Amino acid sequence: MSDTTMKALVFAGKGQPMLQDRPKPTIIESTDAIVRMVKTTICGSDLHILKGHVSTCDTGRILGHEGVAVVQSVGDGVTRFKPGDNVIVSSVTSCSSCDHCRKEMPSLCVDGGWTLGNTIDGTQAEFVRIPHADGSLHLMVEGATAEEQVMISDALPTAFECGVLSGKVAPGCSVAIIGCGPVGLSAMVTAQLYSPSQVIMVSRNSNRIALAKSMGATHGIVSGEGVDVVAAVKELTNGKGADTVIEAVGVPATFELCQELVAPGGTIANMGVHGCKVDLHLEILWDKNITITTRLVDTTTVPMLIKLLGSGQIKIGDLVTHRYNFAEIEEAYTTFGAAAEHKAMKVVLNF
Ligand SMILES: [Zn+2]
Ligand SMILES: [Zn+2]
Repeated sequence: MSDTTMKALVFAGKGQPMLQDRPKPTIIESTDAIVRMVKTTICGSDLHILKGHVSTCDTGRILGHEGVAVVQSVGDGVTRFKPGDNVIVSSVTSCSSCDHCRKEMPSLCVDGGWTLGNTIDGTQAEFVRIPHADGSLHLMVEGATAEEQVMISDALPTAFECGVLSGKVAPGCSVAIIGCGPVGLSAMVTAQLYSPSQVIMVSRNSNRIALAKSMGATHGIVSGEGVDVVAAVKELTNGKGADTVIEAVGVPATFELCQELVAPGGTIANMGVHGCKVDLHLEILWDKNITITTRLVDTTTVPMLIKLLGSGQIKIGDLVTHRYNFAEIEEAYTTFGAAAEHKAMKVVLNF
């Protein structure tokens, strides 16, 4: 790092995450802040970009939309943050005033949403420009580790908003979560806030099922050849199916499985990022009173989730399985890209 350049992980083309020297960002708008990253992480969405699935992200973009940082400088229009503040960077930037933001949908903000590491340079760099800093940063708290607070950027609010809230998890209900990655597990952890009687995790990966059970899942089903997941879930739920089914993978087969697992009157909450069309079996579901929800994280529950982390009511530290120095981020991508092989869940990069 020199006075004017920094290290940054750049989307150099399909399948090519590349560590490069880039100019340090500077304040452009009065509502900007410049932050110095302390920890960042790699998200499944970054892998989608590298596979060429995210058309809004051009090559040359600095990736990343998660992490914790220290405020370096702020524009004249920033009122809530000052240099030296320890902050969580939200994956969704919010102007706080457009129609979508006012309807608690910053994911659709006309001058924000998922911008970082997508349409503007992101958090896998030593320094980052954060637009609309007042609506896009959150102060860190004392009671939780910095690693846990990295999960506030994206994984926890995505799981809670798109999975648990949209899925209407309620006391005594049964929940099935298809997919046991960081967001699926975060849904399992935050579903507990509503005391469901059953949380059934489904994954092809037996290590992940074991981790889910250690973190509070009541049941785990390792899917794969010869395993009838539908029969297993029906047996656990008196033949009914699950009241809430959360899709946390993002491929047609898992969304179709959700349609077979949902109980009459239940809800399918989609969290997965889908890159192709999926069949909807209305011929079976038309009279079953079910609800299907879709959403991108809005991060509107972040202040509440920070309090729950800070007071120890949510424990999520076990999600971090691998740690690297930022200089090793290309290796970290290799590990995260083959997560099952490396028993990797969340990979944290330290600056
Ligand atoms: Zn993410
Ligand atoms: Zn807005």
